[in-house]
Amino acid sequence: MNLQNVIENFQTFNNFARNPNNGGINRIAFSHPERVAALRFSMLCQKAGLDVYFDFFGNVIARREGKNPSLKPVVLGSHIDTVKDGGQYDGLLGVLGALEVVEHLNEHHIETDHPIIIIAFACEESTRFNEATLGSKYLTGKMTKEDMKSIKDNDGHVLYDIVAPLAQDMHGKAALFERNKIKAFLELHIEQGPILENNQKDIGIVTDIAAPHRFKLKIQGVTSHSGSTPMPMRTDALTTASEIILKIEALGRAYHDKGIVTTVGYASVYPNTMNAIPGEVTLLIDIRGKDEGVRETVVKEMQQHIDTITNHRQTSYDLEDLGQDQPRRFNQTIAKISEQSCNTLGYHYRYMYSGAGHDAMNFAPICPTSMIFIPCKNGISHSPKESVTDKEIEKGINVLIETTIELAKIDTTLEA
Ligand SMILES: [Zn+2]
Repeated sequence: MNLQNVIENFQTFNNFARNPNNGGINRIAFSHPERVAALRFSMLCQKAGLDVYFDFFGNVIARREGKNPSLKPVVLGSHIDTVKDGGQYDGLLGVLGALEVVEHLNEHHIETDHPIIIIAFACEESTRFNEATLGSKYLTGKMTKEDMKSIKDNDGHVLYDIVAPLAQDMHGKAALFERNKIKAFLELHIEQGPILENNQKDIGIVTDIAAPHRFKLKIQGVTSHSGSTPMPMRTDALTTASEIILKIEALGRAYHDKGIVTTVGYASVYPNTMNAIPGEVTLLIDIRGKDEGVRETVVKEMQQHIDTITNHRQTSYDLEDLGQDQPRRFNQTIAKISEQSCNTLGYHYRYMYSGAGHDAMNFAPICPTSMIFIPCKNGISHSPKESVTDKEIEKGINVLIETTIELAKIDTTLEA
């Protein structure tokens, strides 16, 4: 591979989107810098000899023909958008990595049996529309044009009204991403956590994507005077909430080995003044796991604890279920191929699951899917401090290249 070329591409894409005050990258979904980046990517694809188009949602899709055009394509990709003041590598790594796979094949005159499609997904981050992976949801049929009419951004703009004027004529190329129409989907991404770095591994081979079950808990106590209400006569919503928060943390620790993480990330207190006993507290609770059964066991235990604690403290509560996503299991044969690539290249790897969601999770139900992680400094992401070395990028892309070449062989068969 041509590392210099990749590094220069990173600079070109990021220089255009950098906040001069803090170094953060700003390619918010469907903003000017984000659309320019998508256009720039499409031009690089064209230059690499690919057949490229934008779909209705603004995803960039580029195809390199195989020896047999009727075989199912191997699909690579990640997202081109960022959070506000995000990092240089989140998303873009998998986009430029996929492009480098094609450049590598071109340079070495490698003709693959299966076609290869590379994609820059639009709108993966939930920053603007409070919902994640919208580009891949559209491509895999999980979000329709009709659905787009009821999704709004933070300023009230309707998603459909934003994408429709930009949409281009696709010459009937859109109906590509259906069940059983893709041989494999593979995404290269930074880990966005500390596990690879702490274990001194070059590569993470992702086996599962964890998914959240979220709740809003409203605890009702009695607001009264902080001076004239004796301790035994109080019904304090905040001390009740404190006990519940610690219990939820304890549950996460108890089930840590089974891939559970629990977070209370939001709390609001009423009336929130120094001289009144808190009468009402609202908490937002996020319970995540890679195994749905274990996750729901934790949810049940949490509900019992909430019941016991509020009973004991004579407060009342209302627990609202905000919804859940399904964890995704990735394809084991692709993982084995990536493992073999690591062995051939002499890289240290480990199997792991992803605590964060990615575009790949939308492909898992429709085709054999896998992900490759590389470490990032101190596990920091969604921040201008996000940092990855050139060497780490090189290793990640090399595994992506080797795995893709293997997947694109007609003799490589994948079990679901
Ligand atoms: Zn990402």
